Amino acid sequence: MNNSDTLIIGGGPAGLTAACFTRGRTVVLDRLSAPARKLLATGGGRCNLTYDTDAAGIMGRFGPQARFMAPALHAFPPAAIRAFFLGLGLETAVEPDGCVFPVSQKAADVVQALVRAARANGADLRCGVRATRLVVEPAGAGGGATARVIGVETTHGLLHARRVILAAGGQSYPSLGSDGSGFALARAAGLALTTPVPALAGLVTRESWPGTLAGIVLEQGGLRLDVKGASKRLLTGPVLLTHKGLSGPPALALAGEIAARLLTGPEVPVRVSFIAARSAADWLALFEAWRQQHGGRALHNLLAGELPRALATALCALSGAAEIAVARAKRGTLETLAASCADLPLHCVATEGWERAMATRGGVALSELDPKTLACRRIEGLFCAGEVVDLDGPCGGYNLTWAFASGRLAAVGTEKPQIDE
Ligand SMILES: Cc1cc2nc3c(=O)[nH]c(=O)nc-3n(C[C@H](O)[C@H](O)[C@H](O)COP(=O)(O)OP(=O)(O)OC[C@H]3O[C@@H](n4cnc5c(N)ncnc54)[C@H](O)[C@@H]3O)c2cc1C
Repeated sequence: MNNSDTLIIGGGPAGLTAACFTRGRTVVLDRLSAPARKLLATGGGRCNLTYDTDAAGIMGRFGPQARFMAPALHAFPPAAIRAFFLGLGLETAVEPDGCVFPVSQKAADVVQALVRAARANGADLRCGVRATRLVVEPAGAGGGATARVIGVETTHGLLHARRVILAAGGQSYPSLGSDGSGFALARAAGLALTTPVPALAGLVTRESWPGTLAGIVLEQGGLRLDVKGASKRLLTGPVLLTHKGLSGPPALALAGEIAARLLTGPEVPVRVSFIAARSAADWLALFEAWRQQHGGRALHNLLAGELPRALATALCALSGAAEIAVARAKRGTLETLAASCADLPLHCVATEGWERAMATRGGVALSELDPKTLACRRIEGLFCAGEVVDLDGPCGGYNLTWAFASGRLAAVGTEKPQIDE
């Protein structure tokens, strides 16, 4: 069958969900030998498939562009996603932090449920086939579109389709399928893109000292941007010192914004707090109390009661307080150390890159798409879903929620009658 009603590029969560909702002859292409390889790896193999909230709760975590998601998410919010999977025989459960996982704790069960449902809906799943070009021709008069998609060139020949859903994912973890070729297909067809950068990745710092403390985790830590005009809100949660710099939830959450800023400058300043709830004034008050009660003891030994010993020693050295008894430390030295504990400057020069990023920031510009259908405004018959679209959320099931909801909407959107045929 080389003619289909709907041709879906990408057998990931967005493409497979779309294939569960299309009508007519549907073909799904995936460039790998099996579909949904990335979905299989999500949540450490357990698949954090959504978050226990409503549509607004999901949008609230996607930043200023989130309003675009409203039609998709109102039609398929987390509760509907869970009900959809339950209908496919997959029970889900909410963990205490609100993240939703399959009761079986197996991402493979999510993949299997989607593949089975797509096939039950009549979809023809073709793996090992890469889409290489969207075939677009000038559109007839009428409507807003200037072009029309008529098929897709693939490594296995030309496939004609009345409609195409581009669900080829982003660019992160290319070994799991999405290698940025969805962006290349969109760009070659004439769509505008926001430059894709890695998101949800560890950070590489100019300073090398975190590398000497790799493995230390500050459970109650915090991290914030220190950039003029950007939100300076402290993101709290475990901060992990790594061979290259920083990781852990706050670092991952800031990575997309940092990567985007690194497109226009060599480094992005951030500030680390080793105990987020403590201000510099709190630390200083503690040091003053030590001065009264334990004057003869070395500052780094006292600090080792509050922070991991190696970090305490490094911070004292960075602040000019190495090997000093607390009673002998000057006020200025204690102030410097307090500032270092509460709000230490570091400079990010890179993220850990595509190989380690869990998401992509950037992609097909939202201005190209109609949020009510996810149809391309300028190319009739072309729809976009999932991570190929310029939207990215934090860890916690948010990105898969968008993949499922947008996949469904793109499919349902394909059912809309063509007005100007
Ligand atoms: C390690 C890891 C863990 C993650 N854990 C979670 C989690 O627990 N919860 C969460 O919400 N999110 C998680 N994410 C993010 C989530 O996996 C993605 O946001 C989601 O998979 C995007 O879905 P998608 O269908 O748009 O793209 P993808 O899942 O990337 O699927 C796209 C598919 O298209 C195929 N493809 C690409 N180009 C072509 C082409 N030219 N021709 C044919 N086929 C093509 C690929 O092979 C791939 O199978 C994780 C990501 C990673 C890397």
